[in-house]
Amino acid sequence: MSETVTLTLQDVHEVAVAVLTAHGFDDTHAGAIADTVTAAERDECPHHGLFRIPYYVDGVRSGLASGVAQPELSELAPAVVRVDARYTFAPLSLALGEEPLAALAAEHGIAALVVNNALHVAALWPEVERLAERDLVAFAFVAAAPYVAPAGGREPLFGTNPMAFAWPRGDRPPLAFDQASSACARGEIQLRLRDGRELPDGAAIGPDGLPTSDPAQALAGAQLPFGGAKGSNIALMIELLTGPLLGDLLSIEAGERDTARTGAPCGGELVIAMDPARFSVHHDREARIAHGEKLFAKILEQEGTRLPSDRRYEARLRTPSEGVTIPASLYATLDGLRGG
Ligand code: NDP
Repeated sequence: MSETVTLTLQDVHEVAVAVLTAHGFDDTHAGAIADTVTAAERDECPHHGLFRIPYYVDGVRSGLASGVAQPELSELAPAVVRVDARYTFAPLSLALGEEPLAALAAEHGIAALVVNNALHVAALWPEVERLAERDLVAFAFVAAAPYVAPAGGREPLFGTNPMAFAWPRGDRPPLAFDQASSACARGEIQLRLRDGRELPDGAAIGPDGLPTSDPAQALAGAQLPFGGAKGSNIALMIELLTGPLLGDLLSIEAGERDTARTGAPCGGELVIAMDPARFSVHHDREARIAHGEKLFAKILEQEGTRLPSDRRYEARLRTPSEGVTIPASLYATLDGLRGG
């Protein structure tokens, strides 16, 4: 067996749907998750591509997640819409909340989407990028499970808590960044464990509290926030924004709920959308876009720079024709899961 398998994006979607439906996900959830997984493979973000399918399956197998409950939409305030995911995975809830969020942002200038009781193992850039494609500025925040020690500490407490931001660029795809508040994403550590690769310095400490580059020691010990106290404070803010603010779980509580250790944390997600036409006395869309472009051009004048999301957009040009490559071992796992 060769070490890798090349799949078209259509294959990726079909494999994802086949595995999920074989494990009791209904068509709406399987389709929404497969869309998210396929987008990750398309953009060469392997941590959130097919690699994640076993996490979705384990969530339902454990009884801690549902693959069939239908998310419920409601209004919390004039500019705050809520989706109760009802212990399903987040993609369908996010898709359900997108249109009302965008409409409320256009009506009020700023609006928020509260997603409660969602299991989240995906990236955040899809939700903010889609909003920026609608000419909105967007933020998204999600907590996780206790993986990261607070600055100076040794015990895992915070999630890897990512935040994402997207900025509309007119005719160009939005600028978006999406980053964990840990030095290294959990998925990256898991991939390095699988591939036998060491961690970079400063990513983690082992159970003994000492720095480690061994992915197994890191998973048994604690990850570290990026940038010391600064990353730790961002992780803290995300805990508050997605836990106490939304009436949902902290990462430590999500860890307690995950009794089967599926690695699929449950909790809240906050998405904020702003209509830039309502934030300035200058109502000139073209001038605003050009103003942002001036900054981007200045950044790119400096050798060694690039804009966040450009890597993904470059991959997005290639993968529809070239396909994506995944390890043969992952393909075999998925084939087994779909009963192949
Ligand atoms: P990375 O460190 O790989 O990248 C973070 C961001 O920085 C990306 O937007 C990336 O853009 C950008 N970037 C990277 N290099 C440069 C550069 N030289 N100049 C400018 N921008 C750059 O991501 P993380 O490891 O922090 O996170 C990976 C993913 O994991 C995220 O999508 C996050 O949402 C997800 N995650 C999900 C969790 C969950 O519980 N659901 C928990 C934690 C993380 P580009 O994409 O173009 O490379």
